[in-house]
Amino acid sequence: MTRTVRAARGTQLTAKNWQTEGALRMLQNNLDPEVAERPQDLVVYGGTGKAARNWASFDAISRTLTTLEADETLLVQSGKPVGVFRTHEWAPRVLIANSNLVGDWATWPEFRRLESLGLTMYGQMTAGSWIYIGTQGILQGTYETFAAVADKRFGGTLAGTLTLTAGLGGMGGAQPLAVTMNGGVALVVECDPARAERRVHDRYLDEIATDFDDAVRRVSKARTERKALSVGLIGNASEVLPRLLAAGVEIDIVTDQTSAHDPLAYLPRGVALEDWADYAAKKPDEFTDRSRESMAEHVDAMLGFLDRGAEVFDYGNSLRGEAKLGGCERAFDFPGFVPAYIRPLFCEGKGPFRWAALSGDPADIAATDRAMLELFPENESLRRWITMAGERIAYQGLPARICWLGYGERHLAGLRFNEMVANGELQAPVVIGRDHLDSGSVASPYRETEAMADGSDAIADWPLLNALVNTASGASWVSIHHGGGVGMGRSIHAGQVCVADGTALAGQKIERVLTNDPGMGVIRHVDAGYERAGAVAEQRGVRIPMQEN
Ligand code: NAD
Repeated sequence: MTRTVRAARGTQLTAKNWQTEGALRMLQNNLDPEVAERPQDLVVYGGTGKAARNWASFDAISRTLTTLEADETLLVQSGKPVGVFRTHEWAPRVLIANSNLVGDWATWPEFRRLESLGLTMYGQMTAGSWIYIGTQGILQGTYETFAAVADKRFGGTLAGTLTLTAGLGGMGGAQPLAVTMNGGVALVVECDPARAERRVHDRYLDEIATDFDDAVRRVSKARTERKALSVGLIGNASEVLPRLLAAGVEIDIVTDQTSAHDPLAYLPRGVALEDWADYAAKKPDEFTDRSRESMAEHVDAMLGFLDRGAEVFDYGNSLRGEAKLGGCERAFDFPGFVPAYIRPLFCEGKGPFRWAALSGDPADIAATDRAMLELFPENESLRRWITMAGERIAYQGLPARICWLGYGERHLAGLRFNEMVANGELQAPVVIGRDHLDSGSVASPYRETEAMADGSDAIADWPLLNALVNTASGASWVSIHHGGGVGMGRSIHAGQVCVADGTALAGQKIERVLTNDPGMGVIRHVDAGYERAGAVAEQRGVRIPMQEN
């Protein structure tokens, strides 16, 4: 049976209040066919990141959310609703724990064994915590990353440069648009034509090429003419990258966003697209070995481009780690994107702040866009982003917006949105959340916490404290996940979402959550010894006990 789920729009409540209505609509929105990569399997994005364990769990969560009282809390264990307790109005309406395993058991084979018994699910980051907003969610982060690459190496613009990458999935699909928004040319290798077509449909990708020489001609011409262009080349990255290297194609920037974090979600060379699912399901160990070998060849080619002077970075998918397991000794010769470009932002508590309009009306997002520009008139890159986003982004599911804001900024935006709901400037409440990839909410030694100044990369107390403080501060739902982004055994991270329903109570909660949540990023980086974080804490008044007399 094929089921189609879509969030309700408008002001008619199905649940008892907007706090639970917000959670229900965002769960449904995650599975909207416009949003989710494989909605029939409840898979939202990122390989196998799911919104609920199975359809029975989805139905039970939905049913519970529609009957939950304003002083009750629903507990969700890896996508399955397991209990409802009486709490209080300031408590979250939903508490979620996804994919968590005890350290020594935290491997993909053990996870899959438990998953096949129906005991767990993979929650990725925003899939199992109901705040995925489609590819736009990563677009802004990708745009900022490529802007940072442009600043570092290419005089502030990607015009006249060619970026080579792979993967046009839910997240990776943001790459071509992020590159062209920065004025550059992108060649993106993707083995599944349907994925490439979907990105063209959503206006994230300009063109598709099926022939290698044709693709090279198109992108090289655009590079010479300094024209922004993105071309998706249908092929296997582990075959195409070595071929591009051997052909001597001039490439300036190389990265990757295939689903390398899960060896079963990376297509090995020599395996046909149509055999993929069956082969991976029937012989997971053999498949894993083959995909790791292919990843090693893929990374070998990336190292070839590095040796020729290209800017090369791992884009947070564990490709280096898997390639190393596949025999590529030099896999870690190029850095991850966080230490290379993003950490200075994390020191200010800056990260991906996002919101979605529960009315379903794009006019509400347009109104919040205007409000953001009024609130932060001095922020030039925010203006550039919000203006471009308004013009170029096709919404998927409920209209939504993302931008990066830091400590001392996010709560101002949240309070303004709550006021706009209260005075009728918006037609219905908005939900305000973020990715788990944020400044103080994740421990992930191959990604967000790679190469921390004090060596604290694998310390996972921080995301747990983050979830606890957001629970104590009044978030509408809070989650703790394991394995998002980089896979089993490699990350622990937390999320929070607040519903701005226009009430005074929501305003009080939002002020605390949206102050304390980015505050975790500041204190985490102060603790690791980053001077910038220390300065931010001092200027903006974040209390650090060890620095008080
Ligand atoms: P996805 O599963 O939706 O898409 C992956 C794509 O890679 C698919 O379209 C697949 O066909 C393609 N692919 C797989 N093997 C290939 C090969 N050998 N050659 C060419 N194409 C191949 O995943 P997604 O949501 O796009 O995420 C991609 C990766 O990025 C994941 O590992 C995810 O964890 C990671 N990620 C990174 C960030 C970040 O901020 N950098 C954020 C979220 C996720």
